[in-house]
Parts: sequence; C-alpha cells; structure tokens
Amino acid sequence: MRFLADRMLGKLAKKLRLLGFDTLYFPEEKEEKLLSIAMEQDRILLTKDTDFYKKAMKTGVKIFLLKSDRWRSQLKAVFDKFKIESSDLAPFSRCMECNEPLETVDKEEIRDRIPEYIYLTHDEFKICKKCGRVYWKGTHVDHMVAELSRILNGEVLFKYEDRDG
Ligand SMILES: [Zn+2]
Repeated sequence: MRFLADRMLGKLAKKLRLLGFDTLYFPEEKEEKLLSIAMEQDRILLTKDTDFYKKAMKTGVKIFLLKSDRWRSQLKAVFDKFKIESSDLAPFSRCMECNEPLETVDKEEIRDRIPEYIYLTHDEFKICKKCGRVYWKGTHVDHMVAELSRILNGEVLFKYEDRDG
C-alpha cells in the first residue's frame, strides 16, 4: 500500500513513513501533478481538501478524504479505512524525511556522526543514503512506535491533547 499525501498532511506523511509505508509528500506540487503521480504509481491520495477530493473522484484515482486536523486522528482514520494491522507495519525501514528505504550500517562507519553515548549504548544503526540521516533504536524511538501502535489499536485516540511538533 503506497500513499501520496497532499500539502496539508506533512505530519501524517512522516508518521506513515516511520511505520514503513512508502509515502510521497510534495507540498509545492499542483493538484494536477499529484493526480498524475498517483495514477502513474498506483498510489492512494490522502487529502484534507474537499474540493480536490471531489475533483479527484471524477478521475478514478484512489483517494481518501481526511476530516481531522490532528495527525493522530488522521492516522487512525487511515488505519481504519485500509484495515491496516500491526503485521502490516515495518517501523524504521524508511527515512521519515525523504521516504528512502533505510540501510543497515556498521556503527564504526557513522561513529563521528552520532553522540558518543549513543555509540556506546547502541549496536543497531540504519542510514538513509539520500539525506545521510542516521537512525537507531533509542528510547524516544521506542516510545514513538509504542504510541503509534496504541493509536492503531484505538487505545489512545482522543485522550491526547494535540502536542504535535
Ligand atoms: Zn533521508
């Protein structure tokens, strides 16, 4: 399942990538361009724009209209709509900034690019070959995945204030 998020859904796009979903996000592109990319690459368009949604429906492209302004509710809506389950997730397989698949990297190779205490306390690292960002399974990362999993299971939705950022 591959997605294409429209310009209002940048946070949702990052969370979907974090969970392993191939999700394009082009905040500057025109609607026509988004439609043609979605068609060509067989992607599901995600939008918050009702007019765009109606226009897109006429073209036959796959599109899903999100109602909420909050990424947690948006993510839950996507999970529900496409019946996504825990087994569909592949956390930390994709760069949340540029959507590239991550590659395992030896920690000696990236030693000078990570904090010393991270080097000393972690053994599993991944790198995005496109932007150079290094990922490791750390506390905040585990916390994020746990939270996203709880959203998937419907446990935390609406209990949270929106603390996006
Ligand atoms: Zn990247």
